[in-house]
Amino acid sequence: MTDRYASFVQSGAGRALVKRLGLPDPPRLRRHTPGDPLLPGPVLLGAATGGRLTEPVTAILTAAGVDVRTGTGTTPPTAGHDDAAADGPAGRNERAGNGGAPAGRFGALVYDATGITDSTGLRQLYDFFHPQARSVLPSGRVIVLGTPPAGCGSPREATAQRALEGLTRSIGKEFGRGVTAQLVYVTPEGDAGTPTSLEATLRFLLSGRSAYVSGQVVRVGTGPAAVPADWDRPLAGQVVLVTGAARGIGAAVARVLARDGAQVVALDVPAAGDALAAVANEIGGTAVQLDLTGADAPTRLADHLADRHGRVDVVVHNAGITRDRTLGRMDADRWDAVLDVNLSSQERINDVLLERGLIPGGGRLVAVSSIAGIAGNRGQTNYATSKAGVIGLVDALAPALAGRGISVNAVAPGFIETRLTARIPLVIREAGRRMNSLAQGGLPVDVAETIGWLAWPASAAVSGNVVRVCGQSLLGA
Ligand code: NAD
Repeated sequence: MTDRYASFVQSGAGRALVKRLGLPDPPRLRRHTPGDPLLPGPVLLGAATGGRLTEPVTAILTAAGVDVRTGTGTTPPTAGHDDAAADGPAGRNERAGNGGAPAGRFGALVYDATGITDSTGLRQLYDFFHPQARSVLPSGRVIVLGTPPAGCGSPREATAQRALEGLTRSIGKEFGRGVTAQLVYVTPEGDAGTPTSLEATLRFLLSGRSAYVSGQVVRVGTGPAAVPADWDRPLAGQVVLVTGAARGIGAAVARVLARDGAQVVALDVPAAGDALAAVANEIGGTAVQLDLTGADAPTRLADHLADRHGRVDVVVHNAGITRDRTLGRMDADRWDAVLDVNLSSQERINDVLLERGLIPGGGRLVAVSSIAGIAGNRGQTNYATSKAGVIGLVDALAPALAGRGISVNAVAPGFIETRLTARIPLVIREAGRRMNSLAQGGLPVDVAETIGWLAWPASAAVSGNVVRVCGQSLLGA
């Protein structure tokens, strides 16, 4: 499905008209192509006094080939900034107007806020970000690093660290031009896996893979993460199951995970067999025709995985259905079907795969929820219940499986351009598309890239997260 309005706006004539009329102005988003540099320009890295992550983050970014400049808004930059002017048409060299603030345009602003231990220290955020508010390149990134409030040493520190959410979510709404903003809480006493998972998270959030993710809070905890031999093939050697893979988001997940090196087992209902076979052939994967709601589906699936691969490293629970009606008009069949496909079948499959030891240590469960599961939606009591249940499943299983080295996360897509959303009546569809910070719907590949990052072996310490892929939709928190 195409967004004709966005295509029109992105043309020269359309842009001028839209500006004059004050209409929504959806920017063209930067998306990932293997081999791309991480960012369209240098990173300005700032830190509050006493920040504990500046050193590891500098090392991570430098190793990733990023040009790192440092400065706090009051300190001169350590590197010359004239070459920032070469960063494409938007790369004008602007003086930021605050004393010795680094000038130029940046691909990202990264700020280590872990040193902020009380509310008065929050002023350092203003000092860093205020002079740079117009210095971020289109589709650039803002990332604030903090300490999880629950892991803080005092109530004042926890208060200040919680306050970081308000800054990042507001920047996501304010900066425009496809710039996204995220808060990453990093556990202070992390194990050896923490820096690797921080690296995986930064590589995802800075790159075009996270084009439609904004205003999110991601938690990096502990876990035995493995550094990939090649960050362009972070899933090399992994056996991945993707349910609902014949079309839409599931087909995009299968393609992206195969591109990233995984051996993909693509599953869908027998009625979608031809489309499923086409996806599996295209990516060199295998196809399994199976209705997930069948009583013997979990054992048949487990037998297939055991016989063919001996294990499954990553399970992506993507298959889902809608059967919309307001509650008073909804028959029980609609309720039952949605709950069974979207939630109960996932539980049954997880149980059998885990009982039979088919998901090894280092395994990943990634489920697809929805912003309807966070905000609720008229006409979708069944769907929203199932999708909120998926979040509950993450909350319950992530700590329960941590000891086995298995991570459990979910993505919650907002408005994604698929057949499902193409069926929504035009006016409601337009509202859904525009009511987010990026003023457009996301693409299936945006959800797929986010699932990919959560599936990487390097992301072991990212568990228990629900990451919205919604362009910072106005629906929900
Ligand atoms: P889609 O309808 O295009 O694809 C869903 C796939 O799941 C289909 O191929 C279908 O055959 C398969 N499936 C359904 N029931 C099955 C069963 N019993 N056994 C095996 N396979 C089954 O939908 P989509 O838009 O690609 O959505 C994928 C997931 O993303 C769903 O969980 C959906 O709820 C979620 N989601 C989508 C959006 C969106 O905007 N499109 C937003 C939020 C969440």
